[in-house]
Amino acid sequence: MSESRTPPRVDRQLRALQLAKDCAALGARVKTIGHLTGLPPRELLRMLFPDRYSVPRGRPPDSPEWYHGANLLYRAEASIVVSIYRRLRVAGFTAADALVTAYRHYRGVCVPPHRISFDRAFDLVAHTDGLWLTGAQSFSVVACPKCHSEFLAAFGSIAMSNDDCPFCKLVQRYATDQRVQASYPVRPLPDMALIELGTRRLLLQS
Ligand SMILES: [Zn+2]
Repeated sequence: MSESRTPPRVDRQLRALQLAKDCAALGARVKTIGHLTGLPPRELLRMLFPDRYSVPRGRPPDSPEWYHGANLLYRAEASIVVSIYRRLRVAGFTAADALVTAYRHYRGVCVPPHRISFDRAFDLVAHTDGLWLTGAQSFSVVACPKCHSEFLAAFGSIAMSNDDCPFCKLVQRYATDQRVQASYPVRPLPDMALIELGTRRLLLQS
């Protein structure tokens, strides 16, 4: 007896709907969800926001301009989201799945209030990989030669010094800046075995 198989088109549709639901739960705008899933905005509006009151509104982000003038804490959090996203892409995740998983992980590791919205994360990733909104790449993820953290920089940059590294600047300001202390509170040293388990789980989620 042959095993019955779900037609791939149904699979694709179900995956798109699940992705749409996940994005909406993370606060995505209808237009963003449309880009990520390929589903028509009118249909998304009807399915995800039937009352229309809860539809996220506001201007879409424009990250290539925004990032370089943003406050240090925003640049650090933007770098965290995109560097997690890039690692998941290298591990084989699709761009949309990597974005959703990276954004969830960012919300799990950074202390609220979270400065990067899902729409901002989408826009940063789009302008890093040249996806969805644009064919142009405006950012590269580079490694700081001093602290070895990965951060966002203008596309094609090579970090020769730590001058633009937001994490080195956070460390320099830590002792005197209460906002920085509140965003990165001192925590007991983590159990490395648990971190390894968490990373493995993250890579298995897709
Ligand atoms: Zn650094």
